[in-house]
Amino acid sequence: MSRPRHQNKEIEALLRRLEGDGWRVAKASKYFRIYCPCLDRGHQRSVHLTPSSSAYLKNLEMWIARLHREAP
Ligand SMILES: [Zn+2]
Repeated sequence: MSRPRHQNKEIEALLRRLEGDGWRVAKASKYFRIYCPCLDRGHQRSVHLTPSSSAYLKNLEMWIARLHREAP
């Protein structure tokens, strides 16, 4: 793995899980950016270096879980 680690342990674990699922994780100067393997432009977002709260990780996980799910 060539990218730098995320300083937040829980987010780093999530990034590794995503990489295992084929996502691309890139480090920018002030944030990380994650790209879904489907390459849909709506399926990418930035990940803060210093998340404001534990809700940040939860929101991120929920956003990921909603992708590729059929609308009700
Ligand atoms: Zn996708």
